[in-house]
Amino acid sequence: MRRKLVVGNWKMNGNLAQNNRLLEKLAHGLQDVSQVDIAVCVPYPYLFQAQQILANTNIAWGAQNVAKHENGAYTGEVSAAMLKEFGVSYVIVGHSERSDAYCESDANIADKFAIAKHHGLIPIFCVGETLQERESGVMEYAIANQLDSILSVSGGALLDQAVIAYEPVWAIGTNRTATPDQARAAHSFIRERIAAQHPGAAETVRIIYGGSVNPRNAAQLLSMPDIDGGLIGRCSLDADDFESICRAA
Ligand code: PEP
Repeated sequence: MRRKLVVGNWKMNGNLAQNNRLLEKLAHGLQDVSQVDIAVCVPYPYLFQAQQILANTNIAWGAQNVAKHENGAYTGEVSAAMLKEFGVSYVIVGHSERSDAYCESDANIADKFAIAKHHGLIPIFCVGETLQERESGVMEYAIANQLDSILSVSGGALLDQAVIAYEPVWAIGTNRTATPDQARAAHSFIRERIAAQHPGAAETVRIIYGGSVNPRNAAQLLSMPDIDGGLIGRCSLDADDFESICRAA
């Protein structure tokens, strides 16, 4: 039985005062939610703040990216070991906003996945098709290519504890959500693809859905078979919305 997981992706939003209010409200509002794993992935400078407020709560915190190198002359990068020093549990790798804007290749993303695992972080590996790929009938091919980059470097053991996020690019930040059936079909495809190479891991790996999840659609989406939770962008910036989604899960 896989536990549901709801992760907020704050993207490049927030400031010390706003974060303080949001984190305090979440820590208080979600304290009785024990059947769902909850995390917020905050911008790097706010990891310390998240650690201070969320330590000893049922909410974990995470980052939105990690360097593929251990350390060294990589200006502007942040290593997995540094994230560990701030108590980070989760790290998003391969979010489409990064792979588009910063031309992250599948190979780079696979390296980030592997180094995160090596340091005991839980990578949230994002896959998903563009609208053009869906409409031209190559959705499964596109997802399979992204997925295979980690399946080829990672034995079943590396998938242990990892999280896959299915995020159709056309649904991110658009208010256009995949229907529950579209999402379920993509999640089943991902699980079957993993099962073909790592049958044991396919049963345990959590596959969460991201793309315009909100309090109105969360219950239906997150109750579908094979959907193990959600990756939440905009609605994670509003404590009431995020709390409703966690409760729906
Ligand atoms: C995301 O950025 O991962 C995301 C799913 O965003 P939104 O919920 O705003 O669509």
